[in-house]
Amino acid sequence: STKLMEGKRGLIMGLANDKSIAWGIARQCADAGAELAFSYQGEALKKRVMPLAESLGSDMVLECDVASEESLDALFAALEARWGRLDFIVHAIGFSDKNELRGRYVDTSRSNFLMSMDISVFSFTAAVQRAARLMTEGGSALTLTYYGAERVMPHYNVMGIAKAALEASVRYMAEDLGKDGIRVNAISAGPIKTLAASGIGDFRYILKWNELNSPLRRNVTQDEVGKSALYLLSDLGSAVTGEVHHVDAGYHSVGMKAVDAPDI
Ligand code: NAD
Repeated sequence: STKLMEGKRGLIMGLANDKSIAWGIARQCADAGAELAFSYQGEALKKRVMPLAESLGSDMVLECDVASEESLDALFAALEARWGRLDFIVHAIGFSDKNELRGRYVDTSRSNFLMSMDISVFSFTAAVQRAARLMTEGGSALTLTYYGAERVMPHYNVMGIAKAALEASVRYMAEDLGKDGIRVNAISAGPIKTLAASGIGDFRYILKWNELNSPLRRNVTQDEVGKSALYLLSDLGSAVTGEVHHVDAGYHSVGMKAVDAPDI
């Protein structure tokens, strides 16, 4: 029997270390037989990303700062030279000054607002623009978002506004590219302790809150996000596009948790 992702080639953007959500997704895709390339930001991450990629049988590890059009062009030129065709792309990238991931949203600065939107929103569009040209037999693009796009969450602030825009961009690109057989989706992941998450104020409290208040009464793992990503990236999700899929132990569905009601 052939594996789900056999013969499929995909780019994973945003692997920083073995705690990254990108790592959970990459592992599931590789287990299912996909051939992977990785892009990372900055020379410092290279020594961390190389061995992880190698452990999944990939020798395509490319530097790319998504703030730079030239850097994105170089990444996709390298992919085109090596592979020609591309089947899927995972965008697991977000960034904001951590000084603005605490306190009030209303105090956010113009410069960090623009930078957060550039790195966390436009970079997905910029990557999809280039990936779509290589998806000559259709394809699937996936990004990562968070519930802070839909509802106010403590400290998420400007990232909530960025994720709302990112989710809207998923819907617009799904429409634009649907006729080419290219699907565009997002996973809205529950909180997971990663490098990026550690920049958010009171993150440990947010984790605990989700654990206590989600229907499954627990948090989610990188591998669980990976399994849902596999569904969206593979033929299992062939009719799914423009979707924001929650992988959050059900937290998004709850208005108020049932408790032993006090006498009132
Ligand atoms: P992470 O720190 O492992 O990954 C973030 C990645 O973004 C890093 O690899 C970093 O190098 C990359 N990045 C930042 N600026 C970049 C730039 N200019 N160019 C290229 N890459 C850049 O953390 P993570 O939690 O795995 O984050 C991945 C995605 O998942 C993010 O979009 C994040 O918002 C989202 N997400 C995370 C959680 C969570 O609780 N951890 C929940 C929901 C959504």
